Amino acid sequence: MEFIEVDYDKGQIDCPFCGKTTYETSFKDGEEPTLTKCSHVLLIATAEGLEYCSRKVSKKQLQEKANEEGWEAAIKQLDYPKAVCVASYVPAPSFFGLYIAYAPQKVMEEMVFLNLPGPEQPNAKMSGGELLHGFLCDIYNSTTEVRTQVDKLCLKWNIQYRQTKSKR
Ligand SMILES: [Zn+2]
Repeated sequence: MEFIEVDYDKGQIDCPFCGKTTYETSFKDGEEPTLTKCSHVLLIATAEGLEYCSRKVSKKQLQEKANEEGWEAAIKQLDYPKAVCVASYVPAPSFFGLYIAYAPQKVMEEMVFLNLPGPEQPNAKMSGGELLHGFLCDIYNSTTEVRTQVDKLCLKWNIQYRQTKSKR
């Protein structure tokens, strides 16, 4: 695992493989940093613990090692060829570390596509799959607030809504 250090003052950490911003902070009081995972993220760790850990990494083993020797040592011993860990440290006296590890191969292989538009109205002849499809499309087409939440969940579960040409 290769380690790259990023200046904390930059307030941003990008994926070295696809360039998407994973971590971003405005440094303003009361504003939480945003974390957005692309499919390369293996794990996100801070001094407070594991923020995110892909299913491909043994969480228990990693946490134990981190407790004994710290995150840097724990992440370094992970056997991921060509993986990169981007680290950022809050300057002294805090030395609070943020570690984001990335794998070059997409960590999550499976991607679920949901075709839009879905069925507009339920009818008695529909299968369970069709009913669910309509339900999920209605959720997607709901208010902006709901949509923001849906977009987050899509990232988490690797779901992608896609517009298809209507069959008419
Ligand atoms: Zn990426």
